[in-house]
Amino acid sequence: MSNQDLLQRDLSVLWHPCTQMKDHETLPLIPIKRGKGVYLEDFNGKQYIDAISSWWVNLFGHSHPYINQAITAQLDQLEHVMLAGFSHEPVVTLSERLVALAPDGLDRCFFADNGSCAVEVALKMSFHYWRNCGRNEKTRFVTLDNSYHGETLGALAVGNLSLYRETYGPLLLDTLVAPSPDCFYRPPGVSWEEYSRERFMEMDHLLARHADEVCAVIVEPLVQCAGYMRMYHPVYLSLLREACDRYGVHLIADEIAVGFGRTGTLFACEQAPVSPDFMCLSKGLTGGYMPLSVTLTTEQIYRAFYNDYESMTAFLHSHSYTGNPLGCSAANATLDLFQQQPVLENNVTLAATMMTAAQELNEHPHVAEVRQQGMILAVEMIKDKQRREPYPWQERRGLRVYRYALEQGVLLRPLGNVIYLMPPYVITPEEIGRVIDVAKKGIAIATRD
Ligand code: PMP
Repeated sequence: MSNQDLLQRDLSVLWHPCTQMKDHETLPLIPIKRGKGVYLEDFNGKQYIDAISSWWVNLFGHSHPYINQAITAQLDQLEHVMLAGFSHEPVVTLSERLVALAPDGLDRCFFADNGSCAVEVALKMSFHYWRNCGRNEKTRFVTLDNSYHGETLGALAVGNLSLYRETYGPLLLDTLVAPSPDCFYRPPGVSWEEYSRERFMEMDHLLARHADEVCAVIVEPLVQCAGYMRMYHPVYLSLLREACDRYGVHLIADEIAVGFGRTGTLFACEQAPVSPDFMCLSKGLTGGYMPLSVTLTTEQIYRAFYNDYESMTAFLHSHSYTGNPLGCSAANATLDLFQQQPVLENNVTLAATMMTAAQELNEHPHVAEVRQQGMILAVEMIKDKQRREPYPWQERRGLRVYRYALEQGVLLRPLGNVIYLMPPYVITPEEIGRVIDVAKKGIAIATRD
């Protein structure tokens, strides 16, 4: 079979995610035959470095022997059982380990099978908690401008990217939006910390006005990933935690993208440090192998649901594949790898290599900023650097980099005018060098007219 064969079959029956399918009249769709380490290989034998971890899921490379073996062993035991009324060893072990690793106080695990659903669970649980406490007036959520929390209607409603949200506006919950602490817009000479602190004041005012009707504030700690990899200082999270306590509002940390070491610490919240009332995890949870997600919460919130059945306070939410044993075994194997190797320590060196290699892009006349949090590095292209005028989105400059990089055997899927790296942790310094070299040439090509 060649790329061409599979491509034709694909385009006659599939509808791909997050894609204007007409683009594929000119943009090649790439059928992948296998993956190994950081490499993906197509049906013509061409290899691509997966510099974005296949939508930020993969942590230790494709087809990792240890994770493969764990899933195979689990497959021989139990592929799946419903989690209502039943339990199994991988889900219990995984929950014990997550509770031990998560910020203090997150002692209960509720599973689902994708990130958006983990967010839905947090929103519904928070709302329901307040109801169980007799606080029926609490019905709203606060979110940050430029945030993203998934595509199902509840998760979409608490996101704030018009590209994904606007069309569905009439269907969505009415959320309260605070300005983003995103440091891209800080004036010259102002530090990330000063800017994030200053931005917090509006959040405080919003909570002061609306706390009575607000269930929770939801944030992506430190990096708004789908929101163009915009970043902010951990002080914002400390201030937010303190304010949520003061105003009697829950804090939901969506660590679906930033969890499992992406920002340098195992969880981004540790850098503040704060313990949220809910923490959503998915993506890297299974090392990038299986659809699995979890919403962690506190014993105190759990207790507000715990009562006689007739009280009707139970959380009657479920998904068929909740806590799937194969997914849990992949997750346990992923946590083993974190235990067996000094992953976060090694990543410090890899992150420094990424920045050193990308640094000179700061001087590029059409690069507004090179920014980094741990293993996430982003380069923002701009039309006019002095006036900070962005390229019109219709020009799709990022897409030009994407095309060039693919030709060169590197997968760099941009977010608008932002090119970023979020590689698997098994990438070598040489491979980082190659990826950044391709990014530099791609940016040169994409900005030359
Ligand atoms: N929250 C964040 C921060 C995400 O980045 C994503 C996915 N990109 C989601 C939620 C949704 O996860 P999923 O795609 O698994 O539904």
